[in-house]
Amino acid sequence: MTKYNMLSAPDFMPVERLRDIQNRKFLAAFRRAYENVAWYRELLAQHQVDPSSIKSLADISKLPFIKKTDLRDTYPNGMLATSMDKIIRYHASSGTTGKPIVVPYTREDLDVWAECVSRCLTAFGLDENDVLQVGYGYGLFTGGLGLHDGGERRRCTVVPVSGGNTERHLMFIRDLNVTAIACTPSYFLHIIDHAQKIGFNWKDTKLKVGIFGAEPWTEEMRQFIESETGITAFDIYGLTEISGPGVGGECSSHAGVHIFEDHFYPEIVDPDTLEPLPDGESGELVFTTLDKTGMPLIRYRTRDITKIIAEPCACGRTIRRIGRISHRSDDMMIIRGVNVFPGQVESALLAVDPGLVNYQIHLSKGDAGLDVIEVKVELTREKFSELGDNTTSLEIFRRLIAEKLKSTVGINFKTTLVEPDAMPRSQGKIKRIYDNRNQ
Ligand code: ADP
Ligand code: ZN
Repeated sequence: MTKYNMLSAPDFMPVERLRDIQNRKFLAAFRRAYENVAWYRELLAQHQVDPSSIKSLADISKLPFIKKTDLRDTYPNGMLATSMDKIIRYHASSGTTGKPIVVPYTREDLDVWAECVSRCLTAFGLDENDVLQVGYGYGLFTGGLGLHDGGERRRCTVVPVSGGNTERHLMFIRDLNVTAIACTPSYFLHIIDHAQKIGFNWKDTKLKVGIFGAEPWTEEMRQFIESETGITAFDIYGLTEISGPGVGGECSSHAGVHIFEDHFYPEIVDPDTLEPLPDGESGELVFTTLDKTGMPLIRYRTRDITKIIAEPCACGRTIRRIGRISHRSDDMMIIRGVNVFPGQVESALLAVDPGLVNYQIHLSKGDAGLDVIEVKVELTREKFSELGDNTTSLEIFRRLIAEKLKSTVGINFKTTLVEPDAMPRSQGKIKRIYDNRNQ
């Protein structure tokens, strides 16, 4: 335990003690929501739940779920569980459709959040000797300020570059002896790409850790990032509604994301029947905030699809893990009856050539009214200089990709190659899916 600071001690507590704490906190959180949020009282009344029947965490399955649309419908302050004088910050989810979801934070909420990010940083092997460069956007998006506060809490030296300004990112990584960078995986791809263009040598830096999250990414992407730069890439997970990044993070085993379940109680439910599923089974991740005072959420449906891994982890942490988010339920594409996830496309492309990291998925209606799925793939500069003027070789390469996509996913893809640098780069969350089926 001496290796870890006191803040990370809850990661290692005996499971029975953790369950006791969760139980106690859950009852208080439920009471807080019930007593302070009129909307929540109505929800329980609608579902005919008698609040006095909630006596322990085991009763949680009697409670209704809170959905993303509920947060939109109660915009902006309908879920507030405290008086405004206690609220010291708002964030908003980056959702692009309709009204944003705004989340109010009290001092205690920000403290818990910073503590969780700090516990992630400890798990990534970082301490006061590290220099953490934050490449998530600062602002309403939780990425920037979340990593910033957590970095300071861990006593790292924080370099708040924010998203964009790739040239400056590289300059500071080198000049300020940055040891860890936090940004979206897609933005880091852009940084890698730019480094390659300007002849930046990663070996001339002290960078050792990458902290990537806020969007899905694959094991193949991890391998690409690590082999290009020599750093170790860690997954960090979170969502604004629950606090922000750092609801969970990987440890050095890289075998799932540990959830800080002393603060955020996770469940997996069947997304159709909403029945709770046992650990190990895939379904929708649901969270109950155990400590939040600004906007406590009881059984909030994240729409993220994953499973809980309850087996002990090699790192010794007793808090449970979740598997990689395979997809958001909104991102699953049903093409001619087959379920398609963007991650499958990414895995297939990177299996053909680890540099095929720039791609887009376009959906449209074909002649017979059937769905057409097209993958546009940007050639790497090496591949382009190798094959660029040879149409036969290009066609062979294109077919190789199309076949890999078909064997991975089980359906035919229209596959199109585009020249290097033809696709827009991401500074934050990247848009991969373009759905034109209703146009
Ligand atoms: P929005 O829902 O508008 O994107 P957030 O910025 O709060 O709002 O993003 C949270 C969502 O981002 C999560 O629900 C999840 O879908 C995705 N996400 C965050 N971290 C990860 C991660 N490490 N892997 C996969 N998806 C992630
Ligand atoms: Zn672990």
